[in-house]
Order: sequence, then C-alpha cells, then structure tokens
Amino acid sequence: MTEKKSLPNRRSFLETSGKFSAGAMTAGMIAGGLFTGSSAMAHTARDPKKKLGVALVGLGSLSTKQIAPALQKTAHCRLAGIVSGTPEKRKKWATQYDLPESSIYDYESFDKIADNGDIDIVYVVLPNSMHAEYTIRAAKAGKHVFCEKPMATSSEDCRKMINACREAGKKLGIGYRCQFEPHHLECMKLAADKTFGDLKHITAGFGFKSGDPKQWRLNKELAGGGPLMDVGIYALQAYRYLADGEPEAISAMEIKTDPVKFAQVEETLNWSMKIGKVSCSCQTSYGFNGINGFHAYGTNGHFGLKPAFNYSGIKGTSSKGPITFPQADHFQLELDDFAQCVKNDTPTKVPGEEGLRDMLIIEAIYKSAATGKTVTPVAFQ
Ligand code: NAD
Repeated sequence: MTEKKSLPNRRSFLETSGKFSAGAMTAGMIAGGLFTGSSAMAHTARDPKKKLGVALVGLGSLSTKQIAPALQKTAHCRLAGIVSGTPEKRKKWATQYDLPESSIYDYESFDKIADNGDIDIVYVVLPNSMHAEYTIRAAKAGKHVFCEKPMATSSEDCRKMINACREAGKKLGIGYRCQFEPHHLECMKLAADKTFGDLKHITAGFGFKSGDPKQWRLNKELAGGGPLMDVGIYALQAYRYLADGEPEAISAMEIKTDPVKFAQVEETLNWSMKIGKVSCSCQTSYGFNGINGFHAYGTNGHFGLKPAFNYSGIKGTSSKGPITFPQADHFQLELDDFAQCVKNDTPTKVPGEEGLRDMLIIEAIYKSAATGKTVTPVAFQ
C-alpha cells in the first residue's frame, strides 16, 4: 500500500532503520557484494528471494546511461520490460537486454502491461509533465510505481498520483537517489547526532549551463519549470533532510540574463528558507556550471559535500576532516531498496508524499519569486 499521511519524519525513520545508515552499509555492500544476485533467479513478487521485474517508461538519457546499467547489478529487481514510442529504440533495447516481445510496449499499448505477470514495478523516466499520466496508468494496471523526480509539475498532480496508487493498493516511490547514497546518509547522521552542534545555517545549490534551446527542459508545458524543478530540487531535499523539517517561510528571487532562451522557464533562482532555527540559502541555475553541493554550519563546526549531487565522485569535508565513503551506484541502491519494500511490504522512505512535500515548497518558491513577497508553503496534508 502507499504510505499513510502520518509518516515518521525523516530523522525518526533513519534512527529506527539501521539499514539506511552509511555506517551500516559496508564497503562490500556498496561495491555490490551483498547486492549481487544470481542471474538464474526467477521473479515473482511473492518469493522474497526472487528478482522483481521492472519496466522502464521512456528510454532517454537517464534510462540508457544510468538506470538500465544499474538494473544489471541489482539483487532484488531486474530489467524486464520497456515502453517507448520509438521503434528503433525498442528493437535495440530488446536485443541488448534480451527482452521478450511480450514485454515491449509503446505509449498506446502500455495499458496492456496489466496482463504481464513478469512486470511488478513500472519506473517512469519521462519528461516531468508526463509523470502523472504514466504513474496513474501504471497503478490502474496493477503495478507498483517508481517515478523520477520531480514527481510531477504540480501538487495537484502529485495528489492524483498518490490517490491512484493508494486506490490500487500499490506502492509509489520517487527517485530521490541521494537519500540512499553513503555520503548523504552520513551527513544526515552528523546533523541528527549534532556532531557539529546545533545546525544554524545551510547553503545548498545545484545548477548547470543548459545546452540545446529546443530541449524539453526549457519548455514549461513539459518541464513544469526550469532548473528548480530539475536540479534545484536536490538542494531543497538536502536542506530538508539535514534540518529535518518543513520550511515555514520562503523568499525567492529570479535572475534572467537571456530572456530568449529562458522565455518559458527561470534561468537562475536564489531563495532563502527557514526551518525552526535553521536558515538556508539556495541557488539553482541553467546559466552556468559549478554549483553542486551543500554545506551545513553548526554551533561547533561545519560539514558538507561538493560535489554532492553527481552520480559519482561525491566528496565530503568538515571542520574535523574529510568525509569519505566508497562511491556507490545511486540507482542500484534506490532500486534495490524499493524492490525490497515491495517484497516485504514495508514503507519506502521516498514515498509519493515526499514528492508532494517538495512540490508544495517549489510552488511557494515560484510564488515568492513572482510576487516579491515572503511566502509560507501550503501545509502538507
Ligand atoms: P531525456 O530527454 O533524455 O529522455 C526523455 C525520454 O522521454 C526520451 O526517451 C523521449 O523520447 C521520451 N519522450 C516521450 N514523450 C516525449 C515528449 N513529448 N517530449 C520529449 N521526450 C519525450 O530525459 P532524461 O534526462 O532521461 O529525463 C527523464 C526524467 O528523468 C526527467 O523527469 C528528469 O527530471 C529525470 N532525471 C533524473 C535524474 C536523476 O539523477 N534522478 C537525472 C536525469 C533526469
């Protein structure tokens, strides 16, 4: 079932769930030792030893370069089907991953996935505004759903997705990969344990110089917004999982230097937030490279990651020395975690409600930037 509204907060969840702490994750596990399953494993949702079948919807860059390779390493799930509108891609993937014709769909035939007992989880990897439709259709087809970030392009759509999965009795998880990454887990622990005293301030930012002006990421209808929806959400997540709470007040400012390229979405956004006594300043941009990290300042020292949000090469520093863990495949970790939640019927720590919380805050950030006023996000309920 999709998680109920009264979720434990992130910190109490981490405290009661040792398997999510970086300390509990051995180098062997991270390197794949404990997560490596037998290729001879069959796949049903009922047998905990067997790998669940995952169907990818949308075979773009992320599916091709990150998710499909990760699904070759996962112990609890495997690539079992694809959904694509491009015949050449379907053919190429079918050959490359030895997929049966019966597990290959286009967007029109997608709903027939309901009859496919080989597929347990649908992973939605489409442009942002398409997440809601394919999550809802997957839930109606009786599949658990893992959906890329941002969960959708509006809180209204997030609620529809949560309801669809709840009504279908299926789990919904959001691709917040950093919540499974050892350096991030260690930073959550440092914050929770007050290793550097009470947190006072956090800086966080993620952005890059965007290329092709015709890409869907610059199209408001498909993307929902600009860098905030795409990568600023990582900075927002970091603030929420370090300060362990929800922002009470947000003040945002947009800066646009190229009104032609960024006619539909923001180019750069700076915003400040407050959670209790912890303030935060965040940046996101499609205008330049280099911002990629967070730093948290406590009463007795400071710590952070830079780069923090890449797929690999995460580096941590602190006033007590470096923060170093083996590099991990974020997608392998998130997928194996979600598959185990499905197998064991346990809650995911990245449920739809987590995506909705971020979307309510994103809406408040846009409202503040548009009005020039400090905005209180609509409370999560
Ligand atoms: P992409 O452009 O490379 O791929 C998008 C796919 O959607 C393509 O296969 C394209 O053919 C298909 N598609 C179907 N209808 C489309 C339409 N109307 N317009 C454009 N494409 C259409 O994008 P991507 O980088 O793979 O991103 C996909 C999703 O994954 C996005 O929601 C993005 O935010 C998310 N993402 C997450 C991470 C992460 O680290 N978790 C990284 C990159 C992307």
